[in-house]
Amino acid sequence: MSNASIYLDHAASTPLRPEAREAMLPFLEGHFGNPSSIRRFGREARAALEEARARLARVIGAAPAEVLFTRAGTEADNLAVLGRARTQPGAPVAVSAVEHKAVLASAHAAEEAGSPLVLLPVDGDGVIRLDSVDAVLGQRPAVLSVMWANNEVGTLQPVGEIAARCRAAGVAFHSDAVQALGKVPVRVDQVAADLVAFSAHKVGGPKGVGALYVRRGTRLHPLLFGGGQERGMRPGTEDVAGAAGFAAAAEGAEAERETAMTRIGALRGRLEARLRAAVPGVVVNAAGAPRLPTIGNLSVPGADPEALLMGLDLEGIAVSSGSACSSGAVEPSHVLTAMGIPAALAGPSIRFSLGWTTTDAEIDRVLEVFPRVAERVRGLA
Ligand code: PLP
Repeated sequence: MSNASIYLDHAASTPLRPEAREAMLPFLEGHFGNPSSIRRFGREARAALEEARARLARVIGAAPAEVLFTRAGTEADNLAVLGRARTQPGAPVAVSAVEHKAVLASAHAAEEAGSPLVLLPVDGDGVIRLDSVDAVLGQRPAVLSVMWANNEVGTLQPVGEIAARCRAAGVAFHSDAVQALGKVPVRVDQVAADLVAFSAHKVGGPKGVGALYVRRGTRLHPLLFGGGQERGMRPGTEDVAGAAGFAAAAEGAEAERETAMTRIGALRGRLEARLRAAVPGVVVNAAGAPRLPTIGNLSVPGADPEALLMGLDLEGIAVSSGSACSSGAVEPSHVLTAMGIPAALAGPSIRFSLGWTTTDAEIDRVLEVFPRVAERVRGLA
């Protein structure tokens, strides 16, 4: 395989799983009714929506009534953080420094509306410091949000311990499990989280569909206003096909999780070890933490990350940069910066994210190409 396309960007989005496509088709074609309509077309759509809700609930150990469908993971995070902040005006909102922008920007919006923002620090591997959690609980935040797994470096957070501490203090705990679902167990019957956000397109479902788990009894204010859909928490006609696709994808990913993650973790291990040996100075970020088996974040000192990405792209290899390009300047990622990684390493970082379509041969090809591209890019710097 010479220049065939190799997709190692599954944390950005995933291909649609066949079972998700199958589950969606009937609702894109004949069964197009509005689930809020009480006549036959509507009843069919309602039944399909409720079946999808029950199936997704089963995957995460929830009751169906605790699952709200949303428009993407971003909206689920916004609803959790802002929706909670609005239940207790003036109370602080506490979020980890390594959250996805969907949570961080929601917390900043809450701050502008009068909820003081507390950023919880992480250690050098991106793991939240539990003493900072204990310290903030005394301030009785309206919500404390720590992601299940990080999207840039893959670090898994001790969500069970954080949830237990929040529960004991009577503080609502939200976790963004967008990257975790289908890769590690995400069970709300085992972790006492009150709110958990999910996104379909990270587990082989369609884009633009998300879900928020809301534990029974958790007070939340809606962000949108209209009809009474999703218990009034997310008004707007539901995407029945999207919900059906999401549930089928989550079930499929969960059914294969253990075997797939063992295989993918071995590929990721080989990729990291061989690149470390072949490219002088390469550092694997968050290597000391428990991580998702799918993500490898590497710093290549002396390389321009955009040139590296382009060089790999020309060889047919799709990965992501760990840096954000804002106002024309490449800025190191807020995640790596919060981990205390110096700019010289945080700047030239790239993220490989593997998935169920990743093969041994693809990793072999990356191992062949990457050292050459890195060398060339460093020479240009
Ligand atoms: N949270 C995390 C950790 C993510 O990685 C993403 C997507 O990149 C999101 C939230 C947003 O999800 P969506 O793309 O469905 O809005």
